[in-house]
Amino acid sequence: MGGTFDPVHHGHLRTALEIQQWLQLSQVTMIPSGAPVHRQHPGCSAEHRLTMVRLAVADAASLCVDAREVNSSKPSYSALTLASLRDELGPERPICMVMGMDAYLTLPQWKDWHTFLSLCHIIAVARPGYRYQPVAQMDEFTRQHAIKSSHLLTEKPCGGVLIHELTPLGISATQIRELISQGQSPRYLMPDQVWEYIKQHQLYGYKRGK
Ligand code: ATP
Ligand code: MG
Repeated sequence: MGGTFDPVHHGHLRTALEIQQWLQLSQVTMIPSGAPVHRQHPGCSAEHRLTMVRLAVADAASLCVDAREVNSSKPSYSALTLASLRDELGPERPICMVMGMDAYLTLPQWKDWHTFLSLCHIIAVARPGYRYQPVAQMDEFTRQHAIKSSHLLTEKPCGGVLIHELTPLGISATQIRELISQGQSPRYLMPDQVWEYIKQHQLYGYKRGK
C-alpha cells in the first residue's frame, strides 16, 4: 500500500489491517512515497512522513513499512517500485497493490500504468465520497481485468483487479492538515503517537498552546 501518508491516519491503517485479515496475508507493507510525483508541495519531509508511518505500525505485527521510495534518489513512480518488489520476490509470489478508489480512478495519469498488472494485482477500496464510477479508460480496463473471487489474488502472481468495500472511514490527510493549521485537534483520526510526533516537531503549522 503506497501513499504520501502526509500524515498517516486511521483510514490508511484500518484499510491495511482489514485487507490483511480478509486475505489472510502474513503482512501488509506501507510504502511512503519519497518525492511524490503528483504533488508539488507535500506538507512535510519524506523523513517525517516515514517516521510517522513507522510509529503508527510499531505495535502492529501484521503491518510493516518499506522505505525504498524514501531512500531512493529516483522519483517515486509505482512502476519502478513494483518492478523492484517483483525482482526481490521472484516471478511466482503474488503481489497486491492496495489503493483507495480516488487513486484508482486516476491510474491513467500514472507513469507506465499499463505495466502494473504484469507485476501485481490491484485492490481498489471504496472510500467515502469515492465509489467506483465507469470513467473513461478505467471502465474498459476494469471490465477486462476484474476478478470475482479473492482466491485469485493469492493463487496467481499478478493480473487481476478487485474492487472491494471495507469499513468506510471518511478520514483524509488533507482534513488533518487543515485542522492542525487552524489550531484544532486531529486527535482520534490518527494514532496518538503520530499526533504527539506532529506536536513535538511542530509540523503542518502546529503551534504550541493551541
Ligand atoms: P491527502 O488528503 O493528502 O491526499 P489521503 O488521506 O488521501 O491524503 P494518501 O497518502 O493520499 O492519503 O493515500 C494513500 C492511499 O490510501 C491512497 O491509495 C488513498 O486512496 C488511500 N486512502 C487514504 N485515506 C483512505 C481512507 N480513509 N479509506 C480508504 N483508503 C484511503
Ligand atoms: Mg490522497
